[in-house]
Amino acid sequence: MMKHRLLQFAALLAALFAGSASAQQFPTRNITMLVPFAAGGPTDTVARVTAQAMGKPLGQTVIVENRPSAGGILAPEAVKNAKPDGYTILIHHIGMATTPALYRQLRFNPLTDFDYIGLINDVPMTIIARQNFPAKDFKEFLAYLKANKDKVTYANAGIGAASHLCGMLFMSAIQTDVLTVPYKGTAPAMNDLLGGTVDFMCDQTTNTTAQIKGGKVKVFGVTSLKRVPSLPDVPTLDELGLKGFEVGIWHGLYAPKGTPKPALDKLVAALQEAVKDPVVNQRFSDLGATAYPADKATPAALAAHVKAEIDKWGPIIKKAGVYAD
Ligand code: ASP
Repeated sequence: MMKHRLLQFAALLAALFAGSASAQQFPTRNITMLVPFAAGGPTDTVARVTAQAMGKPLGQTVIVENRPSAGGILAPEAVKNAKPDGYTILIHHIGMATTPALYRQLRFNPLTDFDYIGLINDVPMTIIARQNFPAKDFKEFLAYLKANKDKVTYANAGIGAASHLCGMLFMSAIQTDVLTVPYKGTAPAMNDLLGGTVDFMCDQTTNTTAQIKGGKVKVFGVTSLKRVPSLPDVPTLDELGLKGFEVGIWHGLYAPKGTPKPALDKLVAALQEAVKDPVVNQRFSDLGATAYPADKATPAALAAHVKAEIDKWGPIIKKAGVYAD
């Protein structure tokens, strides 16, 4: 009996030791970063740049896996339910803070279901239209929207996406509602905009800069209060008369709640290396984005940001009376 108890105790100790030893050795294999939107879109672009840079200090490949859904609500749920061992992480944008107000039936809680890794970057958005949209400037664009509101279409990535939030605020600012067409990311939405089957959208500069510079779409304004250095000729919506209009998108990195501290610390350190990496900074700034300084690529900074953004957007969304379910 005594011997049996001793053996049980030894097995327990061995299991505990193995658990903490494997967390210490983390990572011994590839890590998967889930993206809530379609491949080729803005979040995917930020994910790929970040994942590649984090792979170096981690000594393992960080694989980007897209779990697209309208509004981006499935990937957070998948990461919430993943094994908390550091091998499955989530990249997400402002949707982490806006979906709680937009979805009454959300199956994850951004404040309690995750361990935070850190903030990645800030990204402004642009109002763009199909190349042959019949307006040569913002004034004509507004006049056209107002005169044709029953037939103009606005593409977005579904309720809870950044493109949805921006469109909702834009339509309320110009007091004109148009028909919205939801996709599972703004990559497929952009394809339809380029093909001319939808009229306009508001999307992150990480997805629109190349199309704007290549003359493939018409751009009417940026959503930041200051002009974007990589698009110096594009006016802000504030300059164009929508006083105070500002939508800033940010990205953060999350792990399932309960991820062992040694693994989490290594992920944080790798993210800090990534945001300091000159290649990452150059790539982000070419796309109009700004990496956070390393002292914001931390769990505490992301936790505070998520909370502040929930507090900021919750009342705005409730006032607008938009719900997804
Ligand atoms: N960021 C999303 C994407 O990557 C789109 C969105 O939030 O509007 O497609």
